[in-house]
Amino acid sequence: MPEGDTIFRAARTMNRVLAGRIVIDFDCVYPIVTRAAEQHALVGRAVDSVTSRGKHLVIGFSGGLFLHTHMRMNGSWHLYPDGARWQRPRADARVLVGCEGVMAVGFLVPVVELLTRRELERHDTLRRLGPDPLAAAFDDGGAAEIARRIRAHGRDAIGDTLLNQRVVAGIGNVLRSEILFLAAVDPARAGSSLSDAELTQVIDTAHDLLAANVMTRQQTISPSVGRRTTRSLDPGQKLWVYGRGGRPCRRCGTEILSAKTGPDARIVYWCPGCQTRHGR
Ligand SMILES: [Zn+2]
Repeated sequence: MPEGDTIFRAARTMNRVLAGRIVIDFDCVYPIVTRAAEQHALVGRAVDSVTSRGKHLVIGFSGGLFLHTHMRMNGSWHLYPDGARWQRPRADARVLVGCEGVMAVGFLVPVVELLTRRELERHDTLRRLGPDPLAAAFDDGGAAEIARRIRAHGRDAIGDTLLNQRVVAGIGNVLRSEILFLAAVDPARAGSSLSDAELTQVIDTAHDLLAANVMTRQQTISPSVGRRTTRSLDPGQKLWVYGRGGRPCRRCGTEILSAKTGPDARIVYWCPGCQTRHGR
């Protein structure tokens, strides 16, 4: 499952490679998208920018046209120089943006839309998205807005709230467990039970983990096997709690617990020794 850091990294790499180039080829398996591309004459426009917001990736084209994609569980964007062998089967390709010398291919991307600027601004999902901890605005009110939104969902378990993209954009199932371990907060606690200090700790940790994963894996743009949250260089020690149910905590030796929670019954992992059930 790609998380916000993976999408952010993909967008940054695609922006570096594609921005300023003219689109010479476009294809998509969804007919509504190819029709819109023809109608708006996408081929011939330049790529302006590639940006991410949470798990959404938006390619902007000259003249105010935007290709919005969302990766959900398995989607990914790859960049291929002309003639390079694709790393995934052609049958998995959903959308393709070709420029001279390079092609961006979206594999198993379930959401692809071509939008005008007006449609982008009014887009229901994008408009309601919570702040992205990787956005430049994080220090400039973004963190405070995330805190406000977590408090507004104060009756929900903090473990579930961190996956709510309307509260904070970009955190997926792996990172929410790791964030709450590092912030020493039990995932079942209601958001309202967190002290201000704990809430700040959770939000800062989310930012740090997302940012750290962006910094360490600049070269790849596909998800998502290399994420690490511990500082250990041993690949077997990459994560604190995620996927480690029944095994001893790396810090205190207590058995790591797991539970299915939330609307999608995703599995959360935590250490009952390190993560407090009650506010400090
Ligand atoms: Zn522990």
